[in-house]
Amino acid sequence: MRHFDFKDGEMFAEDVALREIAETIGTPCYVYSTATFERHYKVFADSFKGIDALVAYSVKANSNIGILASLAKLGAGADVVSGGELQRALTAGIPADKVVFSGVGKTADEMRIALTASIRIFNVESLPELYVLNSVAAEMDVKAPIAFRVNPDVTAGGHEKISTGKKENKFGIAWSQAERAYAEAAALENIEIVGVDVHIGSQIDDLAPFEKAISKVGELISRLRTNGHNIRSFDIGGGLGIPYGDNSITPPPPDQYGAMVKRLTADMDVEMIFEPGRMISGNAGILLSKVLYVKEGEDRKFLIIDAAMNDLLRPALYDAYHEIEAVKAPGSDYEDISYDVVGPICESGDTFTKSRELPEMKAGDLLVMHSAGAYGASQSSQYNTRPLVPEVLVKGSQFEVIRKRPTVEDILKTETVPSWL
Ligand SMILES: *Cc1c(COP(=O)(O)O)cnc(C)c1O
Repeated sequence: MRHFDFKDGEMFAEDVALREIAETIGTPCYVYSTATFERHYKVFADSFKGIDALVAYSVKANSNIGILASLAKLGAGADVVSGGELQRALTAGIPADKVVFSGVGKTADEMRIALTASIRIFNVESLPELYVLNSVAAEMDVKAPIAFRVNPDVTAGGHEKISTGKKENKFGIAWSQAERAYAEAAALENIEIVGVDVHIGSQIDDLAPFEKAISKVGELISRLRTNGHNIRSFDIGGGLGIPYGDNSITPPPPDQYGAMVKRLTADMDVEMIFEPGRMISGNAGILLSKVLYVKEGEDRKFLIIDAAMNDLLRPALYDAYHEIEAVKAPGSDYEDISYDVVGPICESGDTFTKSRELPEMKAGDLLVMHSAGAYGASQSSQYNTRPLVPEVLVKGSQFEVIRKRPTVEDILKTETVPSWL
C-alpha cells in the first residue's frame, strides 16, 4: 500500500495532509512515512528469517537520527562510511556491535573512534588502509576485526556513477590480489580476520549480478579457509533497486532476493551481513515543494519551483527520474500540459525534468517529487546560501520536524571576515 496517496482530493502522508505540513513548516521540505520505513525494513529482514543475518542499514542513504532511531527499534544495525555517520548511528541508539564501517578513505582518527566504540567490523579497502588500522589498533592495544572489501569484477548498477564492482572502479581489493591481502592481514599482530565483504553497485534491477558475485565470493571463502583463515561472515553490501515510477526498471522483490541469497549461501557456513540503503528509505520519502512561477518560454513552459538541485541532487548528478504529482488531485476533465520543472539555482543543471506531462499548475500550487527518501536530504547542500531543507517525519496522524531549517544567521555564524581587514 502507498502511504503517500490522495484522500478527499488532496495528497496525504499517512493521515496528514501535505498541505497542512506545507502551511506549518513551509516549503521545500522532505516528508517521510514511518509506516513505509517500517514495512520496507520488515519485508527485507523477514526475507532472511531462519538464517544468521545482520541488516546493517546504509546510513548514507538517509542519515537523519530520527530515522536511524526508528530503524534501531526494529533491530537494524548500521553501515557507516565516516566518523560522523558512526556518531549518528550511536547517537540514534544503534548498538556498536551492529555497526560495520565501510569506505575507501578512513582516517586514523575515524579508526580510533570506531575501535573505542568496539564496532563489529571494518570493511577494509586497501593494504595501506590495513597497515594504518593495524598501527592504530596497536597503539590502543586492541585487535581490529576486519573483512576485506573485494572487487568481484561484475557489472551492475543503474548508472555509471553508482556502479562499484567493476575492476576499473576505485572500490575494494582487486580480485587477483585478494588472497595475498588476507595473507598479509594474517601476519599483523593487531588485526583479526573475520569475513569477506562486497558491494557491487546501486539501483540494481536484476538478480544475475548478485548471483555472480555471491558465487565468486563463495569460491574465494573456500580458498581462504584452505589457506587457514577463519572466515565467519559474508557481507554482500546493498544495491537492490527500487521502482522510481518511470517503468524503466522492475527490480526483483526483496523476498526473491532473499530466497536467492539463502539458496546460494546455504552451504557456506557464514553469518550474512546486508547493507541495504535505497531499498529501505527510497520510497519512504517525498520532497514537497511549491510552484513559484509559471514561465512561458518560446516553445516550452517552465514550472519554477522552490526546491532546487541543492535540496535534491539526484536528477543533476545521475540524470535520475522522480515521479512528480500535484498535491491537489486533478479533476476528472483535466488535460496534461508539458512542463520543464526547474529550481531557482543559477545552473542549467538545476532541472528536475524536461517535457513532463502534468496537470495545469499555477503559482502557489504544491507538488511532490516521489521516491526522494534515499540520497535526498543526505546529499543536500546550502549552495546559493539556500538553508538546508527541513525533514518531517509522519506517523499516523502525527508529524514532527526531525531536521529543522537553519536560518541564514545560523549559516553566517560559522563564517568570519579575516582579522587583517
Ligand atoms: C552506498 C552503499 C550501500 C547502500 O547502497 P544502496 O544502493 O542504497 O542499497 C551499501 N554499502 C556500501 C559500501 C555503500 O557504499
